[in-house]
Amino acid sequence: MSTAAANWCYATVAPRAKSVVVASLGTPAPSSSGSFRPRLIRNAPVQAAPVAPALMDAAVERLKTGFEKFKTEVYDKKPDVFEPLKAGQAPKYMVFACADSRVCPSVTLGLEPGEAFTVRNIANMVPSYCKNKYAGVGSAIEYAVCALKVEVIVVIGHSRCGGIKALLSLKDGADDSL
Ligand SMILES: [Zn+2]
Repeated sequence: MSTAAANWCYATVAPRAKSVVVASLGTPAPSSSGSFRPRLIRNAPVQAAPVAPALMDAAVERLKTGFEKFKTEVYDKKPDVFEPLKAGQAPKYMVFACADSRVCPSVTLGLEPGEAFTVRNIANMVPSYCKNKYAGVGSAIEYAVCALKVEVIVVIGHSRCGGIKALLSLKDGADDSL
């Protein structure tokens, strides 16, 4: 990890957090002004093809089965975990993780429900603070630190990350619209 990457990340961390762990962020691509700007987003509508009814039924059934399994095999068997959560959440961690389907942080870090306030996006990005842009991440940090009072903020990367690979493939000065 480069110093620039660490500065880029640390700049977004609120001072009340007790500690910060930064892992495998890769090297962000700075703009000419020195601040990070994502250059891989086309910012154009993406159209999804209609799904055949049979496929939709199977997809819904899979989710229903998954929920029923969770309810009977996890939720009903761990009242000590879930009962207190009815009153509210007080997570110790805020976790930034990649949206990659292979690396769910609750699974890979062994986190129980209520332990981590989680933000997932492509390549676990934490953009620099901006009032007008990246409001989703900024509001999540503000809520986690100011309202939930998380103690530890973790940015966790993973091997074979497509987002980081794409970022590292960019040449300095490449067209932002690519
Ligand atoms: Zn990834």
